[in-house]
Order: sequence, then structure tokens, then C-alpha cells
Amino acid sequence: MSVRNHLYLSYKKTEEMEKVVQPISELATQHGFTLVSNPVEANIIASIGGDNAFLQATRKTGFRDDCLYVGISVDSSGFYTDFTIQEIEQVIQAIKNEEVEVRRYPILKVTVDHEKPFYCLNECSIRSNVIKTFVIDVFIDELHFETFRGDGMIVSTPTGSTAYNMSVNGAVVDPTLPSLQVSEIASLNNNDYRTLGTSFLLGANRKLTLKVVQDGNDHPIIGVDNEALSIRHAKEIKMELAERHIKVLKLKHNSFWERVQRKFL
Ligand code: NAP
Ligand code: MN
Repeated sequence: MSVRNHLYLSYKKTEEMEKVVQPISELATQHGFTLVSNPVEANIIASIGGDNAFLQATRKTGFRDDCLYVGISVDSSGFYTDFTIQEIEQVIQAIKNEEVEVRRYPILKVTVDHEKPFYCLNECSIRSNVIKTFVIDVFIDELHFETFRGDGMIVSTPTGSTAYNMSVNGAVVDPTLPSLQVSEIASLNNNDYRTLGTSFLLGANRKLTLKVVQDGNDHPIIGVDNEALSIRHAKEIKMELAERHIKVLKLKHNSFWERVQRKFL
């Protein structure tokens, strides 16, 4: 499987999407690609849809570091989707001629109570599941840094910084800076509870531990990108950058900052 021609197409299985995907499958086959139905057999995984579809594609295929991900959007291009379906011929030619530029994105590793880790590309969010605050002891490495009381916290990767993190006034982070950003959702600040009150960035070698204070409201919702974990009860959530990256096929002249400019300015 050294030749990069085993292609898996990831998309929402609707009648409408099947129609969009049909010509892409045909074109890929004509150009000598083998379409595989099991992503394990693929060395290229293409998502068709928006950023949401790309997030789903990485999650459902296990954030592989030994294959190339490609984001193809149906309408306008997004943060993870460098290409639109109008450019599909170009994408296929580029892969075929090995004229591809690849970017590497850091991903976040999340471990809840010593279970098997989860990975995320955008962020891990933890939120109260009732109309009541909950309390988290926040540790940076071994240091008990602060005690948070409020709605929740968002820990985002650099590429996730333009998503949920941005809505709570977090900073936009260049993905060439491997880091995690910790942002608050509506913290309560008074003489009993005090938090930093701004987002902060942790370097690649730091570990963040969130200990949910077991006071009755200790059933927060934990989200990894666009999926909620089915964990009913969490005590300790550890987060750090994963050792691995995902590799994404890149269009020339489409840097992160060009995409930020296009989307927001
Ligand atoms: P959604 O609520 O349907 O859509 C969230 C929006 O964010 C969509 O427009 C999506 O683009 C866009 N998006 C996703 N990743 C992005 C990124 N890295 N940079 C900029 N925009 C991005 O949820 P969804 O489509 O399932 O996406 C899940 C993401 O939604 C989560 O990872 C979280 O970041 C974000 N979210 C945001 C808020 C908020 O801002 N208040 C609340 C919950 C979740 P597409 O339309 O191309 O999919
Ligand atoms: Mn969406």
C-alpha cells in the first residue's frame, strides 16, 4: 500500500449527498484510485461537506497519522476544507502526481478517569448539564492553579481556536504554535471563587487536569469536537497535546491566516 491510491470517502449518508459524491467516485476511479469501504484500508481519507464533515471524518477513522486527510466542501471553503467540489479534478491530479503540500495539525488527547483516551481536533468542552454552576479544580501540571465555578470550560487546539473558543473571546492561535488554549464559560467571580478570568495558552509539554468537585452537580457534559461523550460521571479529566498529528492536504496560497481573513474580515 505504498502508493497513495486507496481512497475512503467520508460524508453524511443522505440521498442529496450521494448525488454529490457519485461523480467524485467516478472521477477518482477513472484516475486509478481504489475506493475502499473500510477506512482502515485507506491511505487517503476525504471528507465531503463542511468543517463538521471533516471533524466527523477524523473522529470516525480514529485520527490516523499514517494517512492523508483531505477536506472537500460542497459550497464555500471552510477551515479544514481546502478544496471545493468544483476543484475536484485538481485535487485528484495533485495527489496522482504527488504534487501535494501537507500541513500537520496538532490534536488534543483527553483522558477521563484513566479510561482509554479520546482525541479531538477542535476542542474538548465541559459544561454543566443543569441550570446550576459546577466546580472544577484546575491543575497545570502538578500545580493547583485555580478553582473554577461557572458554566464550564473549553480547551481548544490552535485550529479549534476559531470555533467555540472564539465565541467566548478566546484568542485565535497560529497552528504552527503547538499549544492548548483554556477558556472559561461564564465563571463566577467573588470572594469565594476566583479564576484568572482570561483565556490562557499552555505550551506543548504541559498537562492540564480538571477535577470535577463531587458536590452533587458532578455530571457535566463532556464534548469532544461535535460529539458528546456518553460518560455519566466524571471525576478527573486530563488533557494534553497528543504525540501524533494529522496530516492534511493543503492548497497553495491558503494559509491559516488567509482562511481567517476570508472568513472573518
Ligand atoms: P454547529 O453548531 O452545527 O456549527 C458550528 C459552526 O462552527 C459551523 O459553522 C462549523 O462549520 C464551524 N466550525 C467548525 N469547526 C470550526 C473551526 N475550527 N473554525 C471555524 N469554524 C468552525 O456544530 P458542528 O458543525 O457540529 O461543529 C462542531 C463545532 O461547533 C465544535 O467543535 C465547536 O467548536 C463548535 N461549537 C461552537 C459553539 C459556539 O460558538 N457557541 C457552541 C458549540 C459548538 P461548518 O458549517 O462548515 O460545519
Ligand atoms: Mn454544522
